[in-house]
Amino acid sequence: MARYLQAKCRRCRAENQKLFLKGERCITAKCPIDKNYSLLRKCAPGKSQGTRMKKMSVYGVQLKEKQKVKQMYGILEKQFRRYFEIANRQKGITGENLIKILETRLDNVLYRMHFASSRAQARQLILHGHVEVNGRKVNIPSYNLKEGDVVSFKEKSKELAVIGEAMKMIDTQGVMPWLDVDKGKLTGTLKQIPRRSEIVDLTDINEQLIVELYSK
Ligand code: SF4
Repeated sequence: MARYLQAKCRRCRAENQKLFLKGERCITAKCPIDKNYSLLRKCAPGKSQGTRMKKMSVYGVQLKEKQKVKQMYGILEKQFRRYFEIANRQKGITGENLIKILETRLDNVLYRMHFASSRAQARQLILHGHVEVNGRKVNIPSYNLKEGDVVSFKEKSKELAVIGEAMKMIDTQGVMPWLDVDKGKLTGTLKQIPRRSEIVDLTDINEQLIVELYSK
């Protein structure tokens, strides 16, 4: 399976934004983006302080926005383009449809439920056959959930240390309002398809730029 190979924090530096690729570390003071935020805004990634970033073209800005979203969700170009085409055929605002498709992927939902500390870890759990949807094993990270779908783990997978470790985030961060998590049973329900405004860590993302890029 093709995947991104560049070191995770370096990818955030390249995009000049937190992409939340390393689980709990991303929300602590250890995140290098937080440490160097003022510096990053002033100089190009990989350049010394004082080296100003060049003004980007409109195309460059659109391309960068797409790269950010792809990196965040860990999706490669071919599949991302396919998601855009599905979103474009749906009723409503294409950019919002695109985000909703990404948010309802099984790997993302597992991460949002805090059963995994990152989307990458969620993908591993799914690919290794630990995860069930409505009581049936699903080993496809891109599987899109529908309203009312219930995510759970195979009985013997419930003791995996990585799940318990990730779930500590429920107490500190809570769970998004469109999800319901039962910590005791290790199950979670997608109560409703999220509204764009409910996806708070994407406030810096302008998905309309991606729509404009693909619409050329
Ligand atoms: Fe690294 Fe996470 Fe911070 Fe990105 S957001 S720089 S992955 S710790």
